[in-house]
Amino acid sequence: MGRAASAEIDLNAIRHNYRLAKSLAPGSRAVAVIKADAYGHGAVAVAQALHTEADAFAVACIEEALELREAGVSKPILLLEGFFETGELDTIARQQFWCTIHSPHQIVALKTAKLTRPINVWLKLDSGMHRVGIRPDDYRTAFGTLRALPQVDQIVLMTHLACADDLQSPHTDTQIACFDTASAGLDAPVSLANSPATLAWPQAHRDWLRPGMMLYGASPFSHSQPNAMRLQPAMTLRSRIIAIRDLQPGDHIGYGAAFTCTRPSRIGTVAMGYGDGYPRHAKSGTPVMVNGRRTRLVGRVSMDMLSIDLTDLPEAQVGDNVEFWGRNLPINEIADHCGTIPYTLVTGISRRVPRRYDDTIVPATSDAFDAGQRSAQQPIPLA
Ligand SMILES: *Cc1c(COP(=O)(O)O)cnc(C)c1O
Repeated sequence: MGRAASAEIDLNAIRHNYRLAKSLAPGSRAVAVIKADAYGHGAVAVAQALHTEADAFAVACIEEALELREAGVSKPILLLEGFFETGELDTIARQQFWCTIHSPHQIVALKTAKLTRPINVWLKLDSGMHRVGIRPDDYRTAFGTLRALPQVDQIVLMTHLACADDLQSPHTDTQIACFDTASAGLDAPVSLANSPATLAWPQAHRDWLRPGMMLYGASPFSHSQPNAMRLQPAMTLRSRIIAIRDLQPGDHIGYGAAFTCTRPSRIGTVAMGYGDGYPRHAKSGTPVMVNGRRTRLVGRVSMDMLSIDLTDLPEAQVGDNVEFWGRNLPINEIADHCGTIPYTLVTGISRRVPRRYDDTIVPATSDAFDAGQRSAQQPIPLA
């Protein structure tokens, strides 16, 4: 069996979370955001799991989009940053990728491009995040220009919200007002909502949602939020105990001797480290689960191993299962302990960690899936 580190991916949880997004905004369609290898969950597997029901997919770049096409994903795929070089336009047209246009230089390039067929464009407004997007004063003109181009088929109007994860922030309403003013009277569908806006800002729902993190079952909020509590975690990161030792008060553990035992301690070593993507900056005290019981990380995380306190778990043995986040240990809690967000944890899981897909409950084939009379919101019994 070899090294036991693995990330178990629950594809039914991802389907549940996608359906939750859609149910919160009945009437809206939803682009499932599967950039960065579906936030570390495996873009091809996630696209296949959602293929019968997702309205479209979104990725960051053409390489990610082509990987999906090569795997047989035929649904529309939105490129969230559009093209980086003019040479990509030919592939975009051939593959019928949907293309974000966020800057004047892209419009110039599109004007002179010779395309085999017109492309669908998502015209992005900079409503206040100031990363990419057309300036509000220029938005209407940009729309008119694109509408008149033979290279352009349909247009969706979009912007991205900087602070939707903060329910107290006035920025979201300011950005939405900016968008509504800049786009007033333009006849095209609208897309504003990322995960936090899908969960908590109904005024941002409009025609197309763009949920990412919520599909994978982590909350985009740092506080509790009722809709976020309905998400199901998709990734469970696990490994096993590979050694156990008894240590005395004053003994140190790991690199830098950063942890010193203050009591007679039973310490387990686990095959998991920052080479797997478990964060090196996780502090002593970060929770882990052993055989369904909580204990804590002690000492520094090394590349391939880390240490955990088994003093209060005398029954724990070499070979026992350790969960780092997932079904039984919310990833948001781990992110808090590490001073980061769940996004960095899941995208950071390295290639060394095999993804094991749990799709045994609902068959992966579309026919079998459609034929099931299963409710989206109810957990499906394992029997
Ligand atoms: C990544 C991304 C999203 C998804 O954001 P989440 O917070 O993960 O839901 C939506 N829109 C754009 C433009 C993005 O780049």
